[in-house]
Amino acid sequence: MQALVLEEKGRLALRDITLEETLGPRDVRIKIHTVGICGSDVHYYTHGRIGPYIVRAPMILGHEASGTVTEVGSQVIHLRTGDRVCMEPGLPDPNHRTTRLGLYNIDPGVRFWATPPVHGVLRPSVVHPADFTFKLPDGVSYGEGAMVEPLAVGMQAECKARITPGDIAVVIGAGPIGMVTALAALAGGCARVFISDVQQPKLDIAAKLGPITPVNVSREKLADVVHAATDGWGADLVFECSGDERAAAGVFDPLCPGGTAIMVGIPLKPVAWEVINQQVKEATVTSVFRYAHQYPRALALLGSGKINVKPLITRRYAFKDSVEAFDFAAHMPPEHVKVQIELPH
Ligand SMILES: [Zn+2]
Repeated sequence: MQALVLEEKGRLALRDITLEETLGPRDVRIKIHTVGICGSDVHYYTHGRIGPYIVRAPMILGHEASGTVTEVGSQVIHLRTGDRVCMEPGLPDPNHRTTRLGLYNIDPGVRFWATPPVHGVLRPSVVHPADFTFKLPDGVSYGEGAMVEPLAVGMQAECKARITPGDIAVVIGAGPIGMVTALAALAGGCARVFISDVQQPKLDIAAKLGPITPVNVSREKLADVVHAATDGWGADLVFECSGDERAAAGVFDPLCPGGTAIMVGIPLKPVAWEVINQQVKEATVTSVFRYAHQYPRALALLGSGKINVKPLITRRYAFKDSVEAFDFAAHMPPEHVKVQIELPH
């Protein structure tokens, strides 16, 4: 089959590749429709590695996917041929202790699409366990279905944050994950979200998504804006979604006494935060690594219209132009959020 293969750092090819995929009794075969380009896909392309995960052999990219079921294993009961679906890209070891505890996202042995050495899904079809394949509600498009993967990260962050209705939230960083975290915060009961970034076009997009106040931190201080708007109290929840080590070091500044900071972005360098800034507020710090049990909730919110991710899909490419799509994503203009690739259908 034709696939988008990362041959090595900096070299992509749309070429034939042979994959042996047999359909087990609990699997489905899916014709891929839409695949979103994630920051991690771009990072493997430009840097050849993310931390300990190093591209040592040609690997198909892409893990944010939706499609149509074309074949169903003999023991599958909740899916049929023709169902429109999206897929959870990480498969844990069902017997690992983390998985048995329900924390399958932090199983150290999890096999995740487009994380070396596991192939991704920028290809015509894939065989996947039915248990990790979810039907799209009527009215939810394939493009939105492919947004469930990043949205699930925001949903995981909201669950870890334990929102109380009426909470005020801050989201640091208006990239795709910051945007979906803001949407999930509002759907989860937050009254208002402040979102910060240095790129004004991203903030302009965020401001249109709901009761979201943009804060351009190249011009004003996030903590000042939040304190001015909350009579000096601060925000109940601060979601660090930038992955920037300096922004992350300031995570306690806009937080209220007794508040919670949630580390969502993955900083590539150590973060030097003053522990006393946490102590004087008795702040709780929690963190997120991918997600567990979030796909059904994310799809329910998309299906009911409580969350709308359509404004975040800002550019689409055809599969034949996949390399061009990645070059665009690697140097993405700030008015873009999510680039998706559509396979022939
Ligand atoms: Zn992703």
